[in-house]
Amino acid sequence: MNSPLRLPMPPAIPEHQHGFAFKLLELLAIPTFVVDSRGKVILWNRACERLTGVPAYEVLGTAEHWRCFYERARPTAADLLLQGRSAEAPGLYERWSLGGERGQSLCAESWYQLPRTGHRRYLAIDASPVQDSEGRLIACIETVRDVTEEKQARIALEQLATRDGLTGLANRRCFDQTLQGEWSRAQRHQQPLSLLMVDVDNFKQYNDAYGHVGGDTCLQRIAAAVASEMRTNDLVARYGGEEFAVILPNQALKGAAIVAERIRCRVEALQLPNLGTGQRVVTVSIGAATALPGVESLPAQLVATADAALYRAKHMGRNRISLPLADEAAQV
Ligand code: GH3
Ligand code: MG
Ligand code: MG
Repeated sequence: MNSPLRLPMPPAIPEHQHGFAFKLLELLAIPTFVVDSRGKVILWNRACERLTGVPAYEVLGTAEHWRCFYERARPTAADLLLQGRSAEAPGLYERWSLGGERGQSLCAESWYQLPRTGHRRYLAIDASPVQDSEGRLIACIETVRDVTEEKQARIALEQLATRDGLTGLANRRCFDQTLQGEWSRAQRHQQPLSLLMVDVDNFKQYNDAYGHVGGDTCLQRIAAAVASEMRTNDLVARYGGEEFAVILPNQALKGAAIVAERIRCRVEALQLPNLGTGQRVVTVSIGAATALPGVESLPAQLVATADAALYRAKHMGRNRISLPLADEAAQV
């Protein structure tokens, strides 16, 4: 909870301008303001003062209420409704929807850097038109709820559900979902989709020499090295134990082989000692596979092909990349 700000008292507003409803709105615990049909603020309640740090007397009678929420001029949800510009909401808010009985209200959510308090808050706003008895639009009322804590909890939950705790990479569940999504996308756009399976060589020996904690640190460093080779749309995940998977959308086998070799070199360059092994440093083996997803084929086949290639890389001596055999490539 925010501690209430000590604000200068606003000048008294003549009683005859305020009905009972206005008084109630003034005292409402939910930050609320009202803008009239000319776009001027006619109510700015105490809770709104506390949230924004801006006293009512600074905004009442002006059209400057946007300054309480934004550094640069842009319409509030109330302004969008009053000006019939609700269609602009998608470009202005993280989430939005039309509500109310006839879809005439605007509900939206976004992060705000509140200029006066300097606080970063996630606000859920609801703007509804106010009509007179003849149905003419005479004002717009906007309520603003501070849902920062709920948003942060949601982000933390999403992190837990999709991230691997040790490395911070995408977890297996996120990998499975992303692979399915990218597979469908590749099908729609008739684009290739590549996959790399990356397995740490002789990692059991590393654990035996440096202990489980040392092994964990090693996995974190390898994860960071693999992730550093990724483009924006690529996904690197911890597939299991000491195995990582890399999804390369719209990447043909030749490009995938180049990425795989870069990853292999990058891990070798870490020069993490693993003395009992042939290479004497920690290395990885990588299997690559590419598919042009068809209606008949499945993402699991792509994983199986990359796995088979990885298996061959291990058998050929480790610290190398391996591509699919011609007949495997044809099956995917
Ligand atoms: P190869 O080159 O054939 O892949 O040999 P390897 O020793 O890497 O493979 P193996 O499957 O025999 O051993 C994998 C080891 O990885 C065994 C397991 O204890 C270790 N490991 C798996 N997950 C973790 C982890 O989260 N932390 C640590 N420290 N070790 C892990
Ligand atoms: Mg291994
Ligand atoms: Mg393994």
